[in-house]
Amino acid sequence: MLHNFGSINLDHFYRVPHLVHPGETLASRSYHLGLGGKGANQSLAMALAGGQVCHWGRLGRQDAWARDRLARAGVDVTHLELVDEPSGHAIIQVDDRGENAIILFPGANHGFTRRHRDALCEAAKPGDWLLVQNECNALAELLECARRQDLAVAFNPAPMSDTVLELPLDACRLLFVNRGEAAWLTGVPETSDAQALLQGLQKRLPQTATVLTLGSEGAWYQAGDERHFQPALPVEPVDTTGAGDTFIGYFMAALQEQRSVPDCLALAAHAAALGVQQSGAADSIPSRDEVERYLT
Ligand code: ATP
Repeated sequence: MLHNFGSINLDHFYRVPHLVHPGETLASRSYHLGLGGKGANQSLAMALAGGQVCHWGRLGRQDAWARDRLARAGVDVTHLELVDEPSGHAIIQVDDRGENAIILFPGANHGFTRRHRDALCEAAKPGDWLLVQNECNALAELLECARRQDLAVAFNPAPMSDTVLELPLDACRLLFVNRGEAAWLTGVPETSDAQALLQGLQKRLPQTATVLTLGSEGAWYQAGDERHFQPALPVEPVDTTGAGDTFIGYFMAALQEQRSVPDCLALAAHAAALGVQQSGAADSIPSRDEVERYLT
């Protein structure tokens, strides 16, 4: 079982003629409510890939539909708590040119305490995978506890912030980063080529395997001297939101099946390529059947 200590957000999308100006009241042309949050997206992707994933999360009681949606996809929601607090949510304006402006309120995602950390570390067995992103609080304590319990931590430090630099990152066995996150962690300029970023990551965290995703330029895996490259599939993207989450969920599911690293990368890249051809984050994650058909 993989334990995902992850955010759940409700994404409120508003289609507007232009992004709202200071002092202006603007009527929206349409409204759509979607499931989001990196944690929820990654759990959903992993479950759709056929993986065994238990989501440790917090959600406002009034939004229990989001928990039910995860459960229907096959996510174990035993440790997903419904609380009397606002859920994490994003207010997203999208204008006619495709520009967006987002207000993010972490809400219940920032209400984790020592009790949650201890419960997770008690429930997980040594060697189990723990997947973590940067949208929940109390991560430093969680990573220390995971280290003591000998959990295999996979960390996706997104969205990146300075607080990530203070975390005990050497407790991580696997790191998923995109170009910007790799640059932030290593100090290597974001415009550098992949090799320079990989070298920077190797130097910063020599004991940690890394997956460096580069959007339409593909993805690299690096662990010590071992390196693998997976090109991105040549597709016409419609919406790349959540590509990284789909990639991570599928990669972890393949790893759980004990597939080789090149196989994990290939499955993840095919899933993400299908995802970017649909709009939405959680709504764009393909099923395992679709991915297998695409692979053959
Ligand atoms: P996000 O934050 O939007 O979830 P990310 O920045 O974490 O994404 P990316 O590096 O953009 O992640 O993408 C992850 C993977 O998804 C890539 O390695 C690639 O396999 C696939 N992918 C992303 N964009 C494209 C694209 N335009 N065409 C094909 N595949 C893509």
